[in-house]
Amino acid sequence: MFSDPIEFKELFLKKLEMMYGKTFPESTSQDQFFTLGHLIREYISMNWIHTNEQYRFNKQKQVYYLSIEFLLGRLLRQNLTNLGIYEIVDKGLLDLGIDLAEMEEVEHDAGLGNGGLGRLAACFLDSLASLNLPGHGYGIRYKHGLFEQKIVNGFQMELPEQWLRHGHVWEVRKSDLTVEVPFWGKVESYTEKDVLRFRHVDAEIVAAVPYDMPVVGFETSTVNTLRLWSAEPAAYKAGKDMMKYKRDTEAITEFLYPDDTHEEGKILRLKQQYFLVSASIRSILDSYLYRNGDLKELHENISIHINDTHPVLAIPELMRVLLDEYSFEWEEAWEITTNTFAYTNHTTLSEALERWPIRIFQPLLPRIHMIVNEINERFCRELWKEYPGEWKRIEDMAIISHDEVKMAHLAIVGSFSVNGVAKIHTEILKQREMNLFYQYYPGKFNSKTNGITHRRWLLNSNPSLSNLISSSIGDEWIKDPSKLVKLKEYHHDTAFLKDLYDVKQGNKQKLAGLIYESNGIIVDPSSIFDIQVKRLHAYKRQLMNVLHILHLYNRCVEDPGFDFHPRTFIFGAKASPGYYYAKKIIKLIHSVADLVNDHPLVKGRIKVVFLENYRVSLAEEIIPAADLSEQISTASKEASGTGNMKFMMNGALTLGTLDGANIEILEQVGRDNIFIFGLTAEEVMKYQHHGGYYAMEYFHYDTRIKKVLNQLIDDTLPDAGDHFETIYDSLLTENDQFFVLRDFDSYVRVHEQAGKAYENKEHWSRMCLQNIANSGYFSSDRTIEQYAKDIWGIAQGSLMK
Ligand SMILES: *Cc1c(COP(=O)(O)O)cnc(C)c1O
Repeated sequence: MFSDPIEFKELFLKKLEMMYGKTFPESTSQDQFFTLGHLIREYISMNWIHTNEQYRFNKQKQVYYLSIEFLLGRLLRQNLTNLGIYEIVDKGLLDLGIDLAEMEEVEHDAGLGNGGLGRLAACFLDSLASLNLPGHGYGIRYKHGLFEQKIVNGFQMELPEQWLRHGHVWEVRKSDLTVEVPFWGKVESYTEKDVLRFRHVDAEIVAAVPYDMPVVGFETSTVNTLRLWSAEPAAYKAGKDMMKYKRDTEAITEFLYPDDTHEEGKILRLKQQYFLVSASIRSILDSYLYRNGDLKELHENISIHINDTHPVLAIPELMRVLLDEYSFEWEEAWEITTNTFAYTNHTTLSEALERWPIRIFQPLLPRIHMIVNEINERFCRELWKEYPGEWKRIEDMAIISHDEVKMAHLAIVGSFSVNGVAKIHTEILKQREMNLFYQYYPGKFNSKTNGITHRRWLLNSNPSLSNLISSSIGDEWIKDPSKLVKLKEYHHDTAFLKDLYDVKQGNKQKLAGLIYESNGIIVDPSSIFDIQVKRLHAYKRQLMNVLHILHLYNRCVEDPGFDFHPRTFIFGAKASPGYYYAKKIIKLIHSVADLVNDHPLVKGRIKVVFLENYRVSLAEEIIPAADLSEQISTASKEASGTGNMKFMMNGALTLGTLDGANIEILEQVGRDNIFIFGLTAEEVMKYQHHGGYYAMEYFHYDTRIKKVLNQLIDDTLPDAGDHFETIYDSLLTENDQFFVLRDFDSYVRVHEQAGKAYENKEHWSRMCLQNIANSGYFSSDRTIEQYAKDIWGIAQGSLMK
């Protein structure tokens, strides 16, 4: 291909002319980006073919990661660095007067996910390929990813996201591998050699067309595959309802559900789920059978991972194929199936546990419904033997009860492994939410703390910090992030600590520029950049953050001599379009910003900035510039969090509760290098089960709280109208379900502590150092190594029998 900037430049120019029939001076930046993308894909293709051949002929055990979301973000820089050609391309383009960094901005984020769950899937793909593990993703190619957020007068507006408008340069359509997915219709029985069998007839057939994306490992020849399915009308379908059929079909992969935790009981969502798993199981089995696999040994040669319950119908779908298409007996099919699947649970919020009413499930998926019924009946019989007479227990564990299919129960019963995503989360699953299942299947449960790819979240997004790290401890950490601990040698090195401080200042200056460009707000890079970016949700408690800002404002106004280090509070958050309460909080952040930002008595010491349309590429610009990372969920509610890990790795100090992976960050860095506050998960759960919390008391006895809450409903806040009455009511009338007022005092105090700590630059910088040095544990390489060893039983070069 090319091995230096000159060769690259020549190929690039030739390619551009061939693709667009234009000369270079006539080309747009869009043309140039696509030309580069195509060139890189060609660069990848030999290794891609080779990796696939190797997997076919070496017969390695394969893993398939099924996820309804993949929040990939941009891929140009990741591909260039992983291929080791970033510098060559950078230099070659510079010769043509093109700035590669600017060209990267042309790429539209692939935003096929809501937040943490989808981003985790994307990080896992990068780690699988970089560790040379045979692991592939299966997902949906939504025409519109997560909505684009615009803020108008402080309110969120949603626009359809358009990532495919100019085409997606990293995908390859494989129409020859199209498969068919059946919906509706009915089930017929027939006998074959005296055995009763079933078939699904009169179904509406939808074509699932695969689009493959190469997943390039870091400095390795491994290129795995992410296969995304698109729904299209099946070719032969004709008849009077042709237009309706076309619309219904295309709707299946039109939109990503913009819902983070609440389940919307929408038929289309169930269609999406079955569409994903049916097409994926077909494709996985086709490739397995092509490798001359014997279906009896399926589970020894592949594992299928289901990321949360959305793809859980893969379990009855595999049963269906084995029973109906390959004539397996139930027991044997069940043995194979339950040894093939592993399941990750992502939440204990009960409103987020998926349940499907039979009245929707049965007509849409008649054969799958029969199979789930049979799984349930056999499971309940088994329970009856173990727990004779314990009706209540059996009802609580059943897969179908009260005319609903409980997807988490199906996942647990149908998998050989069930994992939580952080230690505390797994403990809560075992001891509380899924305790009955833990009693019955103690061996299935295990914990795998989430991770993030340090290549995207440190190496690529924070070059100045990466360079400083490599120039001190060498670059081994890029392959082996645990090597970051070597940074501890610089604990007493004042020159290094100064450099570290300066790197942060440089990143803050850059972010200040971006804030000015996008919001027109001037922020001071020497202030503390105090950042909370994540989906907007009551349990994540952005509200507590805003109330604290309002309290700081009050102090400035009441006491002109009030002395504290200036703060820049930065928010980024999308609210689900139907989540009324979350949208009010976005408005509240804007009202508080309007109150505070130019107030004469605040004198520029507090600035509040809301950056619109939070997404992966924006996160990459924000996180390197953070001093404080706000991770303030109500303890027990955030399963793990991964934003917390990104911040830590970039040398921000966590200000957080003992929740999710914050607890493990604390274990890594020690009490002196983190700011912990608030109720523990046990205390929260005790209140929830035994009562004893009265928000009104905190309102009456804490004058600070009384003041800020009254300000929500008097005329303090600009353009408040009656927008914030719901918030006021949620805290007082509804007794503050997320313990905002209960934790308020402790939150105020920990902020004072953090502010004081910032006064000593060298001390602060040393704390940052400890965070970076201990962040290797949170690389998704570590997470994936644990999945590979403990769950999937895969390794490089493990052979298929
Ligand atoms: C990492 C990430 C998240 C998850 O953040 P949490 O703080 O763990 O909720 C959400 N959205 C984007 C764009 C991310 O990059």
